[in-house]
Amino acid sequence: MADYDVDLFVIGAGSGGVRTARIAAGYGAKVMVAEEFRIGGTCVIRGCVPKKLYVYASRFADDFEDAAGFGWTLGQKPTFDWPTLVAAKEKEITRLSGLYRKGLDGANVAVVEQRAEVEGPHEVRLADGRRVTARYILVATGGAPVLQPAVPGVEHGITSDQIFDLPEFPRRLLVVGGGYIGVEFASVFARLGSQVAVTMRADNILRGFDNDLRTALRDALAHAGVTFHPNALPVRIEKEAHGLIARLSDGSALNVDQVLVATGRNPHTTGLGLEKAGVAMRANGAVIVDDLSCTNVPSVFAVGDVTDVSNLTPVAIREGHTLADRLFGGKDVACDHENIPTAVFTTPELGTVGLSEEAAREAYPVVDIYKAAFRPMRATLSGREERVLMKIVVDGTTDRVLGVHVLGHDAGEMAQLLGIAVRMRATKADFDATMAVHPTAAEELVTMRTRTARYER
Ligand code: NDP
Repeated sequence: MADYDVDLFVIGAGSGGVRTARIAAGYGAKVMVAEEFRIGGTCVIRGCVPKKLYVYASRFADDFEDAAGFGWTLGQKPTFDWPTLVAAKEKEITRLSGLYRKGLDGANVAVVEQRAEVEGPHEVRLADGRRVTARYILVATGGAPVLQPAVPGVEHGITSDQIFDLPEFPRRLLVVGGGYIGVEFASVFARLGSQVAVTMRADNILRGFDNDLRTALRDALAHAGVTFHPNALPVRIEKEAHGLIARLSDGSALNVDQVLVATGRNPHTTGLGLEKAGVAMRANGAVIVDDLSCTNVPSVFAVGDVTDVSNLTPVAIREGHTLADRLFGGKDVACDHENIPTAVFTTPELGTVGLSEEAAREAYPVVDIYKAAFRPMRATLSGREERVLMKIVVDGTTDRVLGVHVLGHDAGEMAQLLGIAVRMRATKADFDATMAVHPTAAEELVTMRTRTARYER
């Protein structure tokens, strides 16, 4: 190891990079991390964390309304102040970024707050001209939103990178894209008081999720005031004196304050010098890796969004952790990418793990469906028109639970625990034998007895 300046050079101090660096350093490796923006990466600075804070902010709108049903009278009509939220968010992410930095310092990781580019399989060049040799290089540079489709005026649009810090609250917002980011921000801004429209190329939101939940979520968002333009996209965005006009392919024209382009993210590898080391990438810039985060160059590895395998923070963290365990801890471990629980933080929330009904029916000869829709207890006194939807997808041959899908309060929290059960290959009989926690919404998951459909082929 003495032949190199460091044992591990990590490019990118986001979730994956920071975890790898800390674990590697814990095994005694000499580690250096470079970050050109802010320590913490997308998740902490302009992704999961600020998003969830804004989700909390948005939910007070319902809480204030619902309080009346429980006997509360609010003195005056609640008002919302955008700059206060932005400033509070900034304070919190600065605190978290500082904690990440402290964690790295405490682990004896050298942090260089500047851009680093790859010069060769074992060499990195810093923006200040310094060159560092490394036994291993880890690419953990994440991804960045793409402004697409490239229609005239798309440059007037913003992405999730800008929306958190808009100087003015957008009273009228057009969201382009019906994926995770599109629906989450549509939900947040509708509740904060924006008039929100969503336009998407598909006929429904959240491609790949269970169809029943996609439709139920779209309907719930529509009920909250979001207007949907399915099978349509902007053909032109024009700037005018008081905002923007978005002309859509369905013939409509929308006057808005902002257009949020949420049509996906690309791996962040442009200009990174990976070609110099001979690292293979896909057309969209994704670093090609195997199951163990190895690239085609033995000394170069990649984790997280830059690989475009599964663009979720916990995946990047797990990939990085297991990589450090393998490279420096002598452990024979790998990151399991199966049955990844996930949540979409809309209101209502969507939590899911395992196969959708559609995917299960493709893969298994006999599939049983258990489904329940009910009014949550809280909605009885508040009078809010709200339904919880739960669905369990079961292998009809073995009784194994293949997927569980929840739309409603705390669905993300449920998905986390359901992930354990599905990973342990729990059967429907295991769910049925589990005692309920009463009164909760989640108890429905262990009391659902009536099979609503069986598909055989
Ligand atoms: P998604 O892939 O989730 O959604 C992209 C959306 O844009 C889809 O509606 C897609 O349509 C559409 N789209 C893609 N390409 C084009 C195009 N060329 N023209 C028009 N429309 C297009 O990406 P996001 O940007 O929303 O999020 C990126 C990733 O970040 C997510 O996949 C997820 O992994 C992660 N994320 C996770 C969150 C969480 O865990 N809660 C929150 C936010 C992001 P179609 O459906 O037809 O493909």
